[in-house]
Amino acid sequence: MNGNWKAIEQRLGQLLGKSIHFTQINSVGGGCINQAWHVIDQYKQHWFVKSNHIDLLPMFEAEFQGLKTLEAAQCIRVPQAMFYGKVAQHSYLVMEYITFSGKAHAGLAGQQLAQLHQVYAKRFGWMINNTIGATQQRNEQNIDWMAFWKHQRLRFQLDLALHNGLSQQVYKQGFSLSERLPEFFDKPPQASLLHGDLWGGNLAYDQYNQPVIFDPAIYYGDRETDLAMTELFGGFEPSFYAAYNEYYPLDSGYKTRKTLYNLYHILNHFNLFGSGYGMQAGKMIQRLLSEIN
Ligand code: ADP
Repeated sequence: MNGNWKAIEQRLGQLLGKSIHFTQINSVGGGCINQAWHVIDQYKQHWFVKSNHIDLLPMFEAEFQGLKTLEAAQCIRVPQAMFYGKVAQHSYLVMEYITFSGKAHAGLAGQQLAQLHQVYAKRFGWMINNTIGATQQRNEQNIDWMAFWKHQRLRFQLDLALHNGLSQQVYKQGFSLSERLPEFFDKPPQASLLHGDLWGGNLAYDQYNQPVIFDPAIYYGDRETDLAMTELFGGFEPSFYAAYNEYYPLDSGYKTRKTLYNLYHILNHFNLFGSGYGMQAGKMIQRLLSEIN
């Protein structure tokens, strides 16, 4: 971004109606995909800026729209997204900087996620595609959840995985599984507003101990997919699940569907990182097939 900050200062200034110049620009670590900066202006306002190659502008557009949609729902705090754009060979997204210095209040996070999941749409999917990690996530809207999960989620990742070297056998079993999705459901779920990428690294607490979610991959889908992802890498605190269940009890079928939903993320991990995730996906597929045989 060297030498390109002027363009961002100008746009921020236009948006705020006053001239802005940055007095501090500090690189921030911890992101998986992008470069990030904590930027402070002459008024001591703090901003968080993400940037990447210019080709990834649509990714920042989708993140901007996702943050705006979550903000409008007014259930859980998200960073206020300011604008996105491109300068020279870079794309960028500017948002409010939040100091994550609070104590974890997992019960409140569970309650607020339950409220978010009660924001519904008529169709599954979303108005634009976004990304999950660095992989495209397709959101073509559909009134049929099982068709949506089959084509936009499971088969999309399976096809990509085959291209990336997944074994033919695991691919075939995954394909058979994708033909039998209705067997996992007693009734179709509702189309809830989701964070979409809710692992522990995308939830933190601000200085007032309020939960904040960020780096979303939103769409409207089965709320169980968000819960499943929270459990993928060790799980959140028990108070998170207790509060969630109090405000929006989970169905008993969740225990099985959790594996079905996390298969999407494990296949995505195979597509991003390769190696052992292919074997893990194979085991998950076998377990799921054994549940319905
Ligand atoms: P990436 O898209 O590269 O994965 P993230 O959005 O996850 O990047 O951000 C990287 C890190 O920066 C996060 O783990 C978090 O600690 C911090 N972070 C994210 N958004 C903000 C924000 N608005 N204010 C302050 N810190 C943030």
